[in-house]
Amino acid sequence: MHARSMTFPDDDNDNDNDKSLRWLTETVREALRDAWAVLMPVECAGCQSHDRALCHECARSLVAEPTIHSTPQHVRVYAALRYEGPVRRVLLAFKNQHRTDQARPLSLAFLSALRMALDMPDAVGVDGGPVQIVAVPTSKRAYRTRGYYPVSLVLRAAGIGHARVLRVAKETRSQKLLGAQQRAANVHGAFVATRWLGASRVIIADDVLTTGATIDEAARAISAAGGTVIAAVTIGFTPRTGAARDIASSEGYGKEKGAQ
Ligand SMILES: [Zn+2]
Repeated sequence: MHARSMTFPDDDNDNDNDKSLRWLTETVREALRDAWAVLMPVECAGCQSHDRALCHECARSLVAEPTIHSTPQHVRVYAALRYEGPVRRVLLAFKNQHRTDQARPLSLAFLSALRMALDMPDAVGVDGGPVQIVAVPTSKRAYRTRGYYPVSLVLRAAGIGHARVLRVAKETRSQKLLGAQQRAANVHGAFVATRWLGASRVIIADDVLTTGATIDEAARAISAAGGTVIAAVTIGFTPRTGAARDIASSEGYGKEKGAQ
């Protein structure tokens, strides 16, 4: 039953054994995916093609290319992906169609942006101390509709411990049709910290950066409880944002991308 107890009697080469086992594991995994697709028909969360929860092409569009932005109140935001095409469809399916199976690929993208935030010395500061990840909260009503907190699910899939430090203090109108200033007014006072944060250093986690108004409100609530916001990390950013400014791309960060 156990894969570890399987042996390959005619092969005494460790490397070959490793390769065979890897091949077997991969083959079994593929076969299980296909069997699962027959039992529970699935479609790609990014393009609706059949039989895969996430097709190879859409999985490729979820490979993070983190970029840096700034909110109107100057919180630096590290965003993993452009919120468009398959990225947008996967995130919407994850949030609104119970596609919680997408938490894992989204968490990998989130982790890339978080790593970039933590690698930036000027963003984190040199005076050390632990950093807390705080998720932007969603309303109880949204939770009742969905049955889960999308950002918390992504953080959990990424293996990131986080406390539920903020809660929604007032219901807000849908931000969709509002401009940058209207959003800021709409969301002001929306969050409150559930406890005193002392001298904690905080990274705010959210799903999508649009104008930055929501992140600014989260930062206000965290500061009001004594916390210091050092950055925010989001899975996506809306390319046509009104107020959030792009202040750098990932091109100059870490690895060179090579001539294009
Ligand atoms: Zn797809």
